[in-house]
Amino acid sequence: MCEDLPNAAAPAFWCDAMLGGLARWLRAAGYDAAWQEGIDDAELLRLALASGRILLTADTRLADHGAIRSGRIRALLVPHGMGKFDQLAFVVRALALPLREPRCMACGGALRAIPKESARPEAPPRTYAWCDEFCRCSRCAKLFWRGTHWRRIESRLAAL
Ligand SMILES: [Zn+2]
Repeated sequence: MCEDLPNAAAPAFWCDAMLGGLARWLRAAGYDAAWQEGIDDAELLRLALASGRILLTADTRLADHGAIRSGRIRALLVPHGMGKFDQLAFVVRALALPLREPRCMACGGALRAIPKESARPEAPPRTYAWCDEFCRCSRCAKLFWRGTHWRRIESRLAAL
């Protein structure tokens, strides 16, 4: 299990194959969460160990693996049968994570504000007309804007 990291840099995560929705919510809450569809347990353990990321799993058998019990891999067992948002609430409380600036929901990269003008070629014209805040993922280059979808996510996170 994890110790608190009050003053350290934000922890980063590896989510097991079943926790893709949780990975996206963690990114929205400002945490870098890796997830790969269909990844097998051996590869997941190897990547968590190599990266030093905290492993999040809903699989009790995996959580009982020797590398986790010995503390070589830090891990948190997420209870079964929760919705994505309840999983996020569980992780945020269990690790006392403060909400941070949102990261790219597609890949977990940091978002950088960009001048409105540079979003013009990619933004849908109607969005471009009314929205003034655009940012781009520093990892996958995806364009984001503070639209209604984003605000809905922010208000759900604020409810945490
Ligand atoms: Zn990205």
